[in-house]
Parts: sequence; C-alpha cells; structure tokens
Amino acid sequence: MTVLPLDAADDVATEPLPPTRRRGLPGFLRRPGGIFGAAWLTFITVASLTAPLWVPYEVDEQNTANRLALPSAEHWLGTDPLGRDLLSRIFTAGTLPLASSALMLVVAFGIGVPLALLAAERGRLTERVISRVSEVFLALPLLILLLAVVGVIGNKLYAVMAIVGLLISAGVYRIMLGVAQSVRQRLYVDAARVNGLGSVRVNLLHVLPSMATVVAVQAAQLFGIGLLIVAGLAFLGFGPAEPEPSWGFMIQDASSYIFQQPWLMVPTGIVLALTVIAANELADAIAGRASAEKRGRRRRRRAAAPVAAPSISAAPDAILDVQGLTVSVDDGPALVTDVSFSLRQGRVLGLVGESGCGKTMTARSLMGLLPDGVSVSGGSIRWQDRELAGLSEKVLTAVRGREIALISQEPMVALDPMFSVAYQLTQPIRRFREVGRGEARQIAAQLLRQVGIVDAERVLKSYPHQLSGGMAQRVCIALALTGQPKLLIADEPTTALDVTVQAEILSLLRALVRDTGLSIIIVSHDLGVVADICDDVRVMYAGQIVEDGTTAAVLDDPAHPYTMALLGANPHVPEGEPVPVRLASIPGTVPPPGSWPTGCRFAARCQFAQEKCTVPFPALPAHGDGSVLCIRVDEIHAAGVNWGAERAGAEVSPGAGLTAAPIADEPADEPVQTAGVIR
Ligand code: SF4
Repeated sequence: MTVLPLDAADDVATEPLPPTRRRGLPGFLRRPGGIFGAAWLTFITVASLTAPLWVPYEVDEQNTANRLALPSAEHWLGTDPLGRDLLSRIFTAGTLPLASSALMLVVAFGIGVPLALLAAERGRLTERVISRVSEVFLALPLLILLLAVVGVIGNKLYAVMAIVGLLISAGVYRIMLGVAQSVRQRLYVDAARVNGLGSVRVNLLHVLPSMATVVAVQAAQLFGIGLLIVAGLAFLGFGPAEPEPSWGFMIQDASSYIFQQPWLMVPTGIVLALTVIAANELADAIAGRASAEKRGRRRRRRAAAPVAAPSISAAPDAILDVQGLTVSVDDGPALVTDVSFSLRQGRVLGLVGESGCGKTMTARSLMGLLPDGVSVSGGSIRWQDRELAGLSEKVLTAVRGREIALISQEPMVALDPMFSVAYQLTQPIRRFREVGRGEARQIAAQLLRQVGIVDAERVLKSYPHQLSGGMAQRVCIALALTGQPKLLIADEPTTALDVTVQAEILSLLRALVRDTGLSIIIVSHDLGVVADICDDVRVMYAGQIVEDGTTAAVLDDPAHPYTMALLGANPHVPEGEPVPVRLASIPGTVPPPGSWPTGCRFAARCQFAQEKCTVPFPALPAHGDGSVLCIRVDEIHAAGVNWGAERAGAEVSPGAGLTAAPIADEPADEPVQTAGVIR
C-alpha cells in the first residue's frame, strides 16, 4: 500500500508554533498556494453542498435537441450527450467525493493518531505490537483490496472509503508515531506529568497540539488522494448509478466523445484537477510555513560487575531514603548501580559528576520519569514511609507535583510555547489545590512574586518566548511550587543561564529552603553550585557513588581521586586561596554503561591506579558519616598528594613514597611524581 507520502513528515516542523502568530490570518494563508487551496476547497465544498438550492437544472433533465452543446447563456458549461446541464451535474456530483474523502480522513486519523499516542506513551512492547500489525496493513495491495471490497459490498462508496481509511490508518500511525515520540521527549511534557496531569490530558493538552501541523499536512494530502480514489472507482463503473452524476463517470463518458466534442472533458476535468491541486497546495503551504518557523527558531537560537557502593543507613528523620538503587536499560546494561542516600527535610543534597555518570537517571528514577526502555531494576526508594520503586504510573502521578516536583535544565523548553504563563500556572494550581479560576490566578501571581518576579501581572499574560532565560527559570520554579511539594528535584537548574542569573536562581532556591522548609536534590556538574547551596554531596562516577559526606567535609578534604580531580578542574577559586597556574584535567572519558571495568571504574583515568584497584573492594568510611570508594584512600591521604592543579607560589612538601603504577594494558597517562604533587 503506497498511497501515503510516508516521508512527508520529514519536511514539517513538529514543534508548536508560537502563539502570537495565531493572531490574524494563519501563516499558511499568507502564501499564494495556501490562499488558492483554502479558497478553492471552501468554494467547491459550499457550492457542492448547496447545489440543490441554486443549480439551474435538475441533474436528470434531458434536452436531446441540445446534445453536446458548447457553453452558452442557457448552459454556462455546455451539455452532455443526453443534453443535461453540465454545471448542474458537476456541482451536484461534488458532494460524494468531498464527503467520502473526508470520511476516509476521519477513519484514518481517528485510528492512526490515538494508536500513535498510545504506542509513544506505553513504551517499547506496546509500540512493537502495534507496529507489527500496522506493517501487515502496509504490505497489503490497496488497489486489489479495493476491487475485492467493491465486489463484496457493491457501489457503496462511503463504506468503501471508510475501509480505505482503515487501511491507510497504518501509514498515518507510522508517521504520527515518530512525531508523538519526539514530542513526548520534550521537557514541557515531563513537566506536565510532574504537575500531576494524567496521560489522557497530557496527550490532549500537550502532545496532540504539537502534532497538529503534521496532521494538517497529511490530511490535506490524503484528501486529494481520496478524491482521486473516488473518481477512479466511478470511472471504472463503481460509482453511483445513472442518472446520479459523479465526476469519475462524467470523465469516462466524456472520453467516449473526445473526438466528437473535446469540450465535454474540460469542465469536469478542470474541477477535479483544481480540487486535487488545491488540497496539495494547502498541504505544501502548511508544511512550508512550519519549515519556515523551524528555520526561524534555529536562527534565533544561534543570536561489568558492580563494585559494592557505600550503603548509608537512613537518618531517622529522613523524608527520602534511597537504598541500593539500580537503574537499567530493559534487556540491557545497568546505567546506575547500588546508589544509596537519604535526605532530611530542609536539606539540600547535590549529585555531582561528569555527564554520563548517572546523576540525571538517579534523580529521574525518584519520580518515575525514566525514558522509555529504562527502568528501576533493583533497590528501594522510600518516600515518607512509602515505597516508590515499582509503583504504577497512576500512583506516581499522585506523588508528582504534589509531593515531589521537578525543575528542569532548560526553562525555555520546559514551558509549553502554546500557552501563556497564566494558563500554565493556573491549570496545575486548580488541579492541586482545588480552587476556582480567580483564586488560582491570585495564587499564580503570589507564586511569581515568591520567586522574585516583581511585575507578576505582566508575566502572567506573557508567553514563554517573551521571557528571558532567568525569568523563564523563575516561572519554572513557580510552576514546581504549584502543588506545594516537599521535595524539589533540580536537574542542572542553572546550566542554561548566564553567571549573574545563576547566582540569582541559587539565591532564590536558598531562600525557598529557608522560608518553606523544602528539601532539594540538585543535579549538577558544577562544584561551584554544589559548594554554594548544598548541605550534603554525593559524587557519582560511571553509575555509582564514589564519595559522599557533607559538602564542607568533601570539598575541604576530598578523599577520592575523582573528587580531587573535579576540584582541581574547577575554575572557581575560593576567596583567599591561591589561583591555579594550570587547571587539572582528567584524561579520557567516562566509560559507557556495559563497558565498566571490574573493580574501580575510575581506574583507567586515575593517576594513582594500581593492579589492586582492578578487583572489587568495599567502600571505606570517610568524612564522619560518609564513605569513599577507593582502595588506596589511606595511602593517598598519608602521602598528602593532590591531583595536580598547580598553585602559584604553593609550597610543595616531599612525597611520602606514594607511587603510581599504571595498570597493565591500560592506556593511562604516565603519572609523574614531583615533590608530593603527582601529575
Ligand atoms: S587509586 Fe585505585 S581505587 Fe582509588 S580511585 Fe584510583 S584507581 Fe580507583
């Protein structure tokens, strides 16, 4: 079955259009093709539907004395071989192809779009089942099937086109699935889920509107194809019986008189051709408009066996207690292994490490917001005496937003560009707090003021693209507070912001903790952020915690070489400290999941690695209640060595005999010991 333009969606932006552009005429109606397409389709639809009211002759009114006549004052488009008025017959015949094509669209999109939304939401297994069934439909020969259907049910064109719609729905599903999967990965969809929206409302309010452009383009193109199918069937004699007019039969009839009266072919042929061209022009105009928007936005954007990890017993007053958490790809490698930590009310915990260390996966697993195909495969997440690991989506929906909320990395992406700030704030407020529209708006303004927005009323009326990055992040924080949560998970909340705004946002988060007793988990690769706001820190490397303790203890006296290296690479030097001549660096990259070495996962990059680092070993106590996952921690500590950031004018003390022996077959940089500083 090849009638569907399967690659058409590639040309179409799936991102929703900014709402201000909805004012006045839609964008595609400012293009000549769009104007022509919309105007002709409107004209032919209205003219056909109202034909019985205005056509000058009955469709079966014959005048054999005036057969095959050319256009005249009596018959504007001439007459057919039986002397019937062509104008009356053409417009009366229009209802059937237009209505049956529309019916085909309703069936195709009515089946294809919901299935795509379902497959995109439910994950791999559901998607595979639906996709395999759709492939069977796609493999069927449409023309042969059509003739078989007509042979069984007769010339019932509405029923035939409904069946065509059913067959085409497989192609619609394939296109819409890609779009739905793409849209569901957007942060504002996650934000909507965090704010407690059920799956149906997430789909209706956020996913479906973002698919509207692709749906419109596909529908317009398929409409033209539907017209040709109806005309083709009628041409072959499977249309309405005479004297009922049909475009296909009229063209077939005209072809019999092509030499005797060629004009007979012209009116019906032109009307059919113009209608199909109009549908395609409309599709091109919508697609072209969407592509232009996409380009415009781009331009604007330019201005292994796990080592035992530290096991921390929960503090008696902990509101969150994570023990032995393992997150894995379904039927694939683990992404996070044996992660444990607890969090008390009013405390801020930092998860720090390079990209790919499992920080975000750990944080998202707390809310059940892991990507498709990734799940919690072990351990426990106890939230206020309730186990969250393994809970259904429905139960987690009740926790998200009301008890645990999320602040994402990119505020401009986390807000839905389709809706105003007021709408995006009042909807969750009304749902969470069960208040009316007026009160919700007052609370929204109050929340904006709470996050430091002075001109709350103006911001409420704004759309996301009208906000600065810092302002948008403040709105996101206000959005996270709509359900009065006890825990905020902030995933790199300042990464997308400039330094001044970063400081303001961190100051705001500190104030929220102080004033409301919130607890926060901050995911960051920036030790400056951690030092600034966190009470406790967990340093993560290759999916496990390698060092933990209070922030002051860990940053003042790092025990793990990885923490030392991160500090040595940190360009921010505390006041009074000597400025480094050269920042430290860590050779190589974080090993990907599935390629983690046995023993210490940092061994291939560690300056202090030895053979004994390659066998599993337990975590050792450090920083009082904390721990460190390094077999040589005592030796390194006794030697008083550091990772190698040179400090201007720093006194170097003699080493204590610490030697670094690279592991056999490992391409680690050759370490050099220079007077107590190993580089
Ligand atoms: S010294 Fe050994 S155990 Fe410690 S971090 Fe380096 S490689 Fe790992």
